[in-house]
Amino acid sequence: MKRLRLAIAGLTACSGCQLLLLNCEDELPELMEQFEFHYFQMACSPALLEGSYDAALVEGCISMPHEVELLQELRRRSKYLIALGTCAVCGGVAALRNSDERELLRQMVYGQNAVAGETFNPQPLNSVVQVDAVVTGCPPEKEELLRLLMGLVRGALPVAIDYPVCTECRMRENLCLLTERNKFCLGPLTLGGCGARCPSMSVPCEGCRGPVPEANLKEALEVYNQKGFDRQTVLECLRRFCPEWKL
Ligand code: SF4
Ligand code: SF4
Repeated sequence: MKRLRLAIAGLTACSGCQLLLLNCEDELPELMEQFEFHYFQMACSPALLEGSYDAALVEGCISMPHEVELLQELRRRSKYLIALGTCAVCGGVAALRNSDERELLRQMVYGQNAVAGETFNPQPLNSVVQVDAVVTGCPPEKEELLRLLMGLVRGALPVAIDYPVCTECRMRENLCLLTERNKFCLGPLTLGGCGARCPSMSVPCEGCRGPVPEANLKEALEVYNQKGFDRQTVLECLRRFCPEWKL
């Protein structure tokens, strides 16, 4: 059987999403029967772009001119381009300080006299190219990544999740940390798919999967307000993983 050609690329990121694929240790032998992996910087040496790809999985956001060129090249060569992880989907932690002046940040990190290459405010992939599907999360859930890969084998892209973390949290019959414990939990505004991993361990949702579409902001803000969390607190927390959030 002909194996599908996959390009795995990492842009401005921590490489945690690439590592997620390598961590699928039990499934890797079967994956190797279905896929050829290319341009996989964390696993291949040297990482080269050659020919066309059935899909490109791209981790990280863009913050440097050469990343824009690489992303456009991947788009040209690939039938599907998939944003892998919150950085790629909405900017993620790399874009956390987008509201600060870049020159100031450069000096804070590298010192007054450091010579740094050209960079710009980190942006999600869809600010430059068309994205066909997303697997969000910081990092994503392993099962979601495997579902995507098995879907590609059948020639299909995954159905987009459109419900919040609260949906899965209530299905697991957890106590609500927000309404019953007065803890600040971003579950109502955050895209589900993680099985409410954190609230199920009594840890409030931090919003690492980015915003749920059509979130009921008005209602959520009212509940937060009743619990003593003001609009600014909500906004600052939401922007940790999705800097473009507007309330
Ligand atoms: S989404 Fe999270 S795990 Fe993935 S590259 Fe970005 S910071 Fe790392
Ligand atoms: S604990 Fe958080 S995620 Fe769970 S239902 Fe309450 S607000 Fe939603």
